[in-house]
Amino acid sequence: MIEAEVGPITAASAIYETEAWGVVDQDSFLNMALAVEYYGTPQRLLSATQQIENVLGRKRTKHWGPRTIDIDIMLYDSIVMDTDQLTIPHSMMHERNFVLFPMAELDPHLVHPVLQKSMQQLLDESTDQSFVTVVNPEYV
Ligand code: AMP
Repeated sequence: MIEAEVGPITAASAIYETEAWGVVDQDSFLNMALAVEYYGTPQRLLSATQQIENVLGRKRTKHWGPRTIDIDIMLYDSIVMDTDQLTIPHSMMHERNFVLFPMAELDPHLVHPVLQKSMQQLLDESTDQSFVTVVNPEYV
């Protein structure tokens, strides 16, 4: 659906299983990062990803609770923006192992445009204690 609605996927990480963050009495989450070739505005990208979430029937009853699908925009080139709709880079990305592991796998040298640190550096400095395992290790 991302290829159809957004554009070609140029890189995909392995799938990482992470214990739930915030609300812990629930099943773990599966996370991965994708790099996508896209030429529209960040707002249009958000509309496209939200449309995919809606089609996949995302139902969420509580904050940080179980969900069918969640697509977030972590980085968009080196754009920095903060509106009611959209914060890029994603505000929590540098604090979450489930983001930093797959992002560092895609490109360890990719630089966070606000913090001016690479994904590998952010991962090395992460204080997130949560346990992340690769579901499909043959892939890495
Ligand atoms: P969540 O479903 O918890 O990821 O939050 C979704 C809401 O976060 C959406 O309504 C967006 O307007 C807002 N949002 C802000 N920044 C971002 C981002 N970088 N990627 C995706 N959603 C974002």
